[in-house]
Amino acid sequence: MSRHTKTPDSIDQDQFLSILSREAAIDRFEAALFPRDLPGEMRALSDALGCALAHDVVAPIDVPPFDRSNVDGFAVQSSDLALASEAAPRRLALNGEVIACGTAPMRPVLPGTATPIATGGPLPRGADAVVMVEHTQPAGDRAIDIRRAASPGQFVSYAGSDIARGEVLLRTGTVIGSREIGMLAACGIAQVPVARKPRVGVLSTGDELVQPGEPLRPAAIYDTNGAIVTAAINENGGEAAFLGAIPDDETQLESAMRKALAGNDMLVLSGGTSKGAGDVSHRIIARLGAPGIIAHGVALKPGKPLCLAVCDGKPVVILPGFPTSAMFTFHDIIVPVLRRMAGLPPRSDAKVSAKVPVRIASELGRTEFVMVSLVEGADGLIAYPSGKGSGAITTFAQADGFLRIDALADQMPAGTKAEVTLFTPHVRPPDLVIVGSHCTGLDLVTAPLARAGLLVRSIAVGSLGGLAAAKRGECDFAPIHLFDDKSETYNTPYLTAGLELVPGWRRMQGIVFRKGDKRFEDVSVQDAVRAALADPACIMVNRNQGAGTRILIDRLLGDARPDGYWNQPRSHNAVAAAVAQGRADWGMTIAPVAHAYDLGFIPHAEEHYDFALVTARKQRPAVQAFFDALASDEARAALSAAGFRPA
Ligand code: AMP
Ligand code: MG
Repeated sequence: MSRHTKTPDSIDQDQFLSILSREAAIDRFEAALFPRDLPGEMRALSDALGCALAHDVVAPIDVPPFDRSNVDGFAVQSSDLALASEAAPRRLALNGEVIACGTAPMRPVLPGTATPIATGGPLPRGADAVVMVEHTQPAGDRAIDIRRAASPGQFVSYAGSDIARGEVLLRTGTVIGSREIGMLAACGIAQVPVARKPRVGVLSTGDELVQPGEPLRPAAIYDTNGAIVTAAINENGGEAAFLGAIPDDETQLESAMRKALAGNDMLVLSGGTSKGAGDVSHRIIARLGAPGIIAHGVALKPGKPLCLAVCDGKPVVILPGFPTSAMFTFHDIIVPVLRRMAGLPPRSDAKVSAKVPVRIASELGRTEFVMVSLVEGADGLIAYPSGKGSGAITTFAQADGFLRIDALADQMPAGTKAEVTLFTPHVRPPDLVIVGSHCTGLDLVTAPLARAGLLVRSIAVGSLGGLAAAKRGECDFAPIHLFDDKSETYNTPYLTAGLELVPGWRRMQGIVFRKGDKRFEDVSVQDAVRAALADPACIMVNRNQGAGTRILIDRLLGDARPDGYWNQPRSHNAVAAAVAQGRADWGMTIAPVAHAYDLGFIPHAEEHYDFALVTARKQRPAVQAFFDALASDEARAALSAAGFRPA
């Protein structure tokens, strides 16, 4: 199937000649790969963890291999003890041996006698029961008084009662975990027949990629996909070989791909699939083997540029470059194929139902995956979408799972009960939920809570978003820094019934510039802005509408709209990075961030970063712990050292 073929389930686009629906892409990919033979191999037991059994394993011996005592005590003939009781103990003569573990008994137990035996010791001839040492009393060196009756078979495990020789111990396809390893070891099996793990070559592509550990050149980024794809393959039954990042050069890439394909059962690339100028990998695939490309462009979000191919029976996949897109497409479409090739059952993901508190817009025609953080609300779980976009990597690490919006829906309305697929087998709702404006100072206050084992979830949605969540009772408190023009005060005017303000800390806002810039060195904020506006070559960086910082900037600028005004990033760090890297000459950010980027700083106004506490949640232990920590000397010192002024 070539990507130029039009099909009824394809949606035409200019960039991708034929976009397939998610389901059609999966069907075609799997049809080109399965059924197939799964090669097996023998693996040492110590090396078999996580593999799937290639054949049934039949027990070669009985476990236990002999009748065994379950307790420390005396091997006896139960008929001797029929009348034994506390009031009338029965005296038995001791046989002259002690059966320890690993000792084969030499003497029979005859009527009227008993043999001391340890837990796990083999029952001697003649004995049919064991009495516990606790129910006996020594009677000199040669005899024992027994105070209880014994039934036949008491405290005895018979040979084969655990595992019987000839029974099927483990079935084909069973994934070998520690329990299975235990069963195999008990039977003395040292080599296990398993499905051979598919060997998967992993290549990253892009001129901009640098491996972790190397210094980052200007305009370069670290290769995230290489590490994450390698780990995800190993997590799902494959044996990944990371082969490095290859520049966007057709000759180099083709030779790397050919070599990787020759030595592996599967090839996973990332990047270079968007059909940009430097994107060449999909062109190469067409030359690597039949049938070649199965799908290039799938109606998924994130993940549209996914390219699926089969070259002479081996799957070749190009994941989208953005790490989040790469991970979603990998888990949704590649993992099922990989697990099938590894002989593993489909992954069983845990799912929970949760209410989505805000409307999520969605693109019509694409199956959309949205990562969410879960918190416990008054009536059940609440799923917050984490909206950092497909270029973000932290969304994956901080999210609890994801929800799916159908290709035919253009939104998920606020209040929807959605099914959330969890990234881990269970949800652990956080002990403390903070929703609002994020500040690096928060991490300093929550440090002791984390040390005490409390799970703190901080969801950055901005001050207004946090306030709305607090009013709906979805968080314990909302960090806010909202300036009220009318009263010229921070935060208090924004509180409503059920919320109370707990003072946090002050953050000095000011103008940042590169050190040595004469327009800004040693001048007041007002003069700095005047100098910037007077210089047509000077470019600013603004902040997003709704940010407290933006209000300060707009007051300083009045009606002026200098170059760069429409560059409106959403964080303090982005402002500092833009100035540090020369994309802009000035902007407004907070002092700790300015210092972290080694920028010049003109202090302007102290902003109040406080907490809108949901009164109904005030008594919760984690909330108390947070505010105790906030008041502690440790946190106050840490905040001051980081450039904040505790209130
Ligand atoms: P591409 O499909 O090559 O145009 O890549 C799309 C985006 O993903 C670009 O911003 C790339 O820099 C980024 N990207 C590609 N490969 C990687 C990678 N291995 N790790 C992190 N980001 C990547
Ligand atoms: Mg690229």
